Amino acid sequence: MAKTAVSFFWFRRDLRLEDNVGLYYALKSDYPVIPLFIFDESILDSLPKEDARVTFIHESLAKINTQLNGIGSSLLIKKGQTLEVWKNLIAEFDVKEVFFNKDYEPFAIQRDEAICQLLETNKSITYSFKDQVLFEENEITKSDGLPYTVYTPYKNKWLEKYYQNLPILEFDASELYFNFYKSQFVFPSLEQIGFVESSIKVKPYTFDALANYHDTRDFPAVDSTSYLSPHLRFGTVSIRKMIHFAAKTNAVFLSELIWREFFMQILYHFPKVVTQNFKSAYDGIQWRNNEEDFKRWCTGTTGYPMVDAGMRQLNETGYMHNRVRMVVASFLCKHLLIQWQWGEAYFAEKLLDYDLSANVGNWQWAAGTGCDAAPYFRVFNPDIQLKKFDEKGIYIRKWIPEFDLGYGEPMVDHAFARDRAIATYKAGILK
Ligand code: FAD
Repeated sequence: MAKTAVSFFWFRRDLRLEDNVGLYYALKSDYPVIPLFIFDESILDSLPKEDARVTFIHESLAKINTQLNGIGSSLLIKKGQTLEVWKNLIAEFDVKEVFFNKDYEPFAIQRDEAICQLLETNKSITYSFKDQVLFEENEITKSDGLPYTVYTPYKNKWLEKYYQNLPILEFDASELYFNFYKSQFVFPSLEQIGFVESSIKVKPYTFDALANYHDTRDFPAVDSTSYLSPHLRFGTVSIRKMIHFAAKTNAVFLSELIWREFFMQILYHFPKVVTQNFKSAYDGIQWRNNEEDFKRWCTGTTGYPMVDAGMRQLNETGYMHNRVRMVVASFLCKHLLIQWQWGEAYFAEKLLDYDLSANVGNWQWAAGTGCDAAPYFRVFNPDIQLKKFDEKGIYIRKWIPEFDLGYGEPMVDHAFARDRAIATYKAGILK
């Protein structure tokens, strides 16, 4: 029997029908479009059975599937090694075209190259699109064509380009929905994927507190940030919409979204930052890497309330306020002299919004090893941070209920740790 000629739209970190560039172009295809999602076993196998991110992905796919059911279509969900899944799809369908949005992580780039090669051999045409960021790859570079490694000039160029190019299209594909493949693929339960529902949930995003964002965003007890990060990570909202909204309402908020783009292009141009120092001059630092100290940091039992509250918030909710992330990261690298990669890996395991580019970028910023990083001799004093940003102790009491019953001693004296950090960095930085 002849195979059915189809096109595919492959969902990855763009879990929405609305304003989705790759999907928009897919639906203009001459062939009916099968919307596809692949649970990649090589990632799933490394996760615990209860993972809030897998729960969130599953919920987001269920929403898309319900929308598709309303127009006589459905999501095709597969689980396996991505390359094997594609080999099977090629065997089952006459795959004419495959559309997807680009992912800039080194692992994803490699995977996509392998899949495109396979599809090419099969004479299927592949198309990839920019959807995850407003400006990608080489769109914002210095006048000599090299990538920016300092945020402020990057941001200035970004803003210049943004305002030059307005308005930017919204990719509304609703009038093309008739071109979805008519199907009733079975939608698997979370258990069938091999997971159980997590009690930790991704919060909906909000702009309620944005009017005062520039004044209040640094105060964890005020809780005035947007909670957009997991939504941007999994693409349940469109970055274009968020950026247009920010540009109209709040310049400080916009500059945070530009930080996200900055770190994305750093990862794209300098993939070594995933595991290595951006500044190789810092490769000679003699980290202490004490396992017991690391455990105390992970469990929020360092004796520094700001650090402990942050780590407990992370462990219980999968989220930590940005100011506190900066404090705990600085504490790990400077006070405890544990290399940033350990902290980065712990955050990667726990954060709902874990995003390789932002996580590595911010960790290297805190360690002083990254581009445009905090200078190595700046060592946050966790107690001064507490006085400045949680003066009444509201945030720390929320996460450390025993605080008023007499809190333990700090595991290391601040003045001692500060001097030790500066001396160790100084001795280790290669001239
Ligand atoms: P808002 O203040 O409402 O900001 C809006 C959006 O701007 C965020 O959703 C995010 O997309 C972007 N943004 C804000 N600050 C930054 C920043 N410093 N770098 C890059 N983008 C930013 N963010 C992640 O999305 N994933 C991570 O894995 C991650 N790891 C981090 C690790 C450390 C050590 C530190 C210090 C920061 C990290 N951040 C990370 C950045 C920041 O803490 C979160 O983006 C923010 O707290 C998310 O909450 P929000 O959406 O309410 O933020």
